Amino acid sequence: MQSTFSPDCRQCPRLAGFLDDVKVRYPDYHARPVPPFGDVAPKLLVVGLAPGMHGANRTGRPFTGDFAGILLYRTLHKFGYASHEGSAFADDNLALTNCRITNAVKCLPPQNKPEPSEIRQCNGYLAAEIADFKKRGGIALLALGRVAHQAALMALGLKLTGFPFAHGAIHKFPGNLTSGGMNMGGLTLYDSYHCSRYNTQTRRLTAEMFEQIFARICADLASPHLAAQQQTID
Ligand code: SF4
Repeated sequence: MQSTFSPDCRQCPRLAGFLDDVKVRYPDYHARPVPPFGDVAPKLLVVGLAPGMHGANRTGRPFTGDFAGILLYRTLHKFGYASHEGSAFADDNLALTNCRITNAVKCLPPQNKPEPSEIRQCNGYLAAEIADFKKRGGIALLALGRVAHQAALMALGLKLTGFPFAHGAIHKFPGNLTSGGMNMGGLTLYDSYHCSRYNTQTRRLTAEMFEQIFARICADLASPHLAAQQQTID
């Protein structure tokens, strides 16, 4: 069910309690649900997993202030979506053009691992964001990691079996797809490994691999008819 994001949400008791504890330990941290950030009418919506302890959970802006944001914002800047490549603080005047960033789960989970029930609980917010994104002319969804991929499908009411996650996979949804009473046809979901410290330091995800995904998205956005159905970037 779609619902409008509330920055005061406490619908997940485990996460709300965890954030209360974090706030005691780190009084200067945001330590609340982290809202989406970026252009209000973008063509590209990036979906991450959840706020990181010392990144978005600290600064209150997705992917801001920790390692995962370094590659993401540097790549967004390289492809013209971000006004500059660094994103250390929420008051750095960074602006996104044609791009918005959100998370599948808006609250910091312990060990970066939300429970399935928490992903489901927060999915109403993501569903509303994707519906609004589509209504305003959005085209490309980029899922960073398997959890974000599954959350995007859940938000669209699609079965996971029909759209398996793989780095570089491209899922173009059928033109007659409806979700929440809205036509979602024409959306395309792109998959990437998450740009986490672990993935980049182990070179599971390199800058070149990440840039390939963005290059494809940019090419498809420039020529939407070129977006092919469920294929993989070579
Ligand atoms: S994870 Fe989402 S649904 Fe759960 S408390 Fe946070 S904002 Fe609310």
